[in-house]
Amino acid sequence: MLCHACYADPATMPECTVCGGDGRATRMPLCEDPWNEVVPGLWQGGHDVRSQRGSACVVRDEFDLVISLVARQGYGPSEGVEHRVLRIADAVVDAAVGSRIQELGAEIAAAVRDDRRVLVRCSGGLNRSGLVSAVALTHLGHPRDEAVALVRAARGAWALTNPMFVAHLGTLA
Ligand SMILES: [Zn+2]
Repeated sequence: MLCHACYADPATMPECTVCGGDGRATRMPLCEDPWNEVVPGLWQGGHDVRSQRGSACVVRDEFDLVISLVARQGYGPSEGVEHRVLRIADAVVDAAVGSRIQELGAEIAAAVRDDRRVLVRCSGGLNRSGLVSAVALTHLGHPRDEAVALVRAARGAWALTNPMFVAHLGTLA
């Protein structure tokens, strides 16, 4: 996992006091919120939060389209809400996964443009959902660096600290 302060950026990593200059982190805290709005119409979230209530992450009818990158029973959404489950591993993004998330990103962007409320969620709501949200943002016209910054602004500094996902996003046009 990447340091959430310098993201192993060669320009700032040597002076980073959070990671001591090696650009790495060994643990990642959970988010406070089940989901956060990244740009109007697009939310990113997870199934696990630092919450007192076990039901905090259960989705009802808050969204029109829910994309789940992990499958877990009992977390909604309610009947009638469009729900797509596409399992993605917290691992290297190969060509097959890369093309699947491009399709998904395009579909999410189209839904957002149609004024539908979209939630992209994974476990902690940081990396897998961040990857797909960032790809969707590029389909909405945001440059890739801005897409990454928007995801981190919404979900916190620990979002997109999977170095393989960051590397993949860096290859996007
Ligand atoms: Zn650092």
